[in-house]
Amino acid sequence: MKKKLGLVYGGKSAEHEVSLSTARAVTQAVDFDKYEVVPIYITYDGEWRKGESLESSAKTIEELRLEGDGSGQPDSIHDFLNGGTGAPDVIFPLLHGTNGEDGTVQGLFEVMNVPYVGNGVLASSAGMDKVVMKQLFAQVGLKQVPYVHFIRTGWVKEQQQLVDKMETELGWPMFVKPANLGSSVGISMATDRKGLIEAVDIALKFDRKIIVEQGVTAREIEMGVMGNDEPLCSVSGEIKPVAAFYDYEAKYTDGNTTLAIPAQVTEEVKKTMEDMAVRAFKVLDCSGLVRADFFVTADDEVLINEVNTMPGFTPTSMFPLLWQKTGVAYPELINGLIELAMERHAEKQ
Ligand code: ADP
Ligand code: MG
Ligand code: MG
Repeated sequence: MKKKLGLVYGGKSAEHEVSLSTARAVTQAVDFDKYEVVPIYITYDGEWRKGESLESSAKTIEELRLEGDGSGQPDSIHDFLNGGTGAPDVIFPLLHGTNGEDGTVQGLFEVMNVPYVGNGVLASSAGMDKVVMKQLFAQVGLKQVPYVHFIRTGWVKEQQQLVDKMETELGWPMFVKPANLGSSVGISMATDRKGLIEAVDIALKFDRKIIVEQGVTAREIEMGVMGNDEPLCSVSGEIKPVAAFYDYEAKYTDGNTTLAIPAQVTEEVKKTMEDMAVRAFKVLDCSGLVRADFFVTADDEVLINEVNTMPGFTPTSMFPLLWQKTGVAYPELINGLIELAMERHAEKQ
């Protein structure tokens, strides 16, 4: 019997359209001898709609946007959540950001007791919060940039002391970030006190928790990690943005960013990154996949910037490209991730 593979995509998120492209690409790469695809679309309003299950891969993005034409079945979500007919045997969430890779939707799948691709609740939520993530990294001695963090109330009460502390401990420039976002949203670089205050105001629009980091001048190199208990690393890849930093436009729109895969690094830097990527994977208790992102300075110091628990997953995104260069093509990657999801689920039973 073919397994029903639930692809969950769309969502109430800035990355809605990216998610749709991913869904299309995954739909075209699924092994239809093994799986029947159940498209589950989350509209911009957050409404879940289930489409007819697919036995072949001919789906356009418009068809995957199951709304307006009556092909979506909003009510069937209840059926789906309760394991009714047509409920998936395994879920592949193709969602990013809030409600997608922060552990919330993963919690829903746990409650449903259905296997799902990627990280569980703990790793997803710890990986979404840059402060918690960095505290865990520090716990296992991973080198990273110095940072200061605070919440809105602290900023309102002790702005002066915080600015003094940052100036002393971090120096200029600084990177100001909302703790709980991705895709560079709400992030700015500050080069003086005035800029810092403006940057914090921007970041506070997105989150009540803010992290301010020392700005580094470094190459940005990323590595894919895949597995459960014994994760493996892909080759590394370097991002070469034309913009001042790898901001939202550079990530999704401007097309000027080039990727160098594999990255030109010494054997030692490569080994250090592999070791750090696996330690980061383990300390967050990850499963399935992560993309570990590093800063590599001119004198080859390796600092971990972050891990992304649901990295970009279109065929032209870094994570699939890294694995392709490592010898794992896109369809194989998808298959492998589904198998890892089943393996983890079976272990829990
Ligand atoms: P996101 O989770 O949104 O990708 P990142 O922490 O990776 O957030 O920051 C986005 C980009 O901002 C990075 O890819 C890098 O280009 C730049 N950046 C972030 N932090 C620093 C830093 N401390 N020093 C220099 N550049 C940084
Ligand atoms: Mg991120
Ligand atoms: Mg990043």
